Amino acid sequence: MLLRVKDIHVHYGPIAAVRGISLEVGEADFVTIIGSNGAGKSTTLRTISGLNHPSSGSIVFDGEPIEQLSADRIVKLGIAHVPEGRRVFKDLSVTENLRLGAFTRTDRDAIEADLEQNFERFPRLRERKDQIARTMSGGEQQMIAIARALMSAPRLLLLDEPSLGLAPVIVQEIARILVGINKTGTSIILVEQNAELALQLARHGYVLETGSVALEGEADGLADNPHVRKAYLGI
Ligand code: ATP
Repeated sequence: MLLRVKDIHVHYGPIAAVRGISLEVGEADFVTIIGSNGAGKSTTLRTISGLNHPSSGSIVFDGEPIEQLSADRIVKLGIAHVPEGRRVFKDLSVTENLRLGAFTRTDRDAIEADLEQNFERFPRLRERKDQIARTMSGGEQQMIAIARALMSAPRLLLLDEPSLGLAPVIVQEIARILVGINKTGTSIILVEQNAELALQLARHGYVLETGSVALEGEADGLADNPHVRKAYLGI
């Protein structure tokens, strides 16, 4: 197993945002976490990537406990996080943003090869490679955020609501790209409000409710589950 999260509890001061979540991600796996606002999805991702630390429980990545490591160290080990709200360096060009994603690396030739691969993956970004990020559309900025995360050469990519606020056609384009990234062997944890999309893309899903896993299973099975259909798919 590439990632094993075991019974983590995460607090913001006195507030328990995550109350005993466990989940597993295999090599080249595609996992989704769905759930309503405030269920603890973002906090779970932030805790895996070292932005928060659990008050109890363990996170093991590729055999190594990481729950107390810094976010920088975790990037180096191979976990990249694309936070909610597509935070890009607004005053920098597309290429500069992507190069910054490789800040933990020293393998210059491989960095150049990955830059080229990302421009192949995101043709819109190649067309706009010298454009300043702030002048680009929300969908294009989301693509920059994903491509920048990929520049750290992660084995596991964490995505927090990449579809939020984007037009359906752009969402479909990003969805195709995520499937492509996963096919090249990178594992993905996708947090989404858009449960329908997430369950189409992922192999396995976790449904969070008030900081705990309420349901988990194969994505196809969850999409057929009456509770999931009613609460998250609006059917
Ligand atoms: P959303 O989709 O709205 O981001 P979520 O499922 O990602 O929801 P979290 O953002 O992880 O949920 O929030 C879980 C709980 O922790 C919520 O009750 C939220 O109010 C609380 N919380 C999140 N961030 C903070 C913070 N920085 N300080 C205090 N409480 C927080």
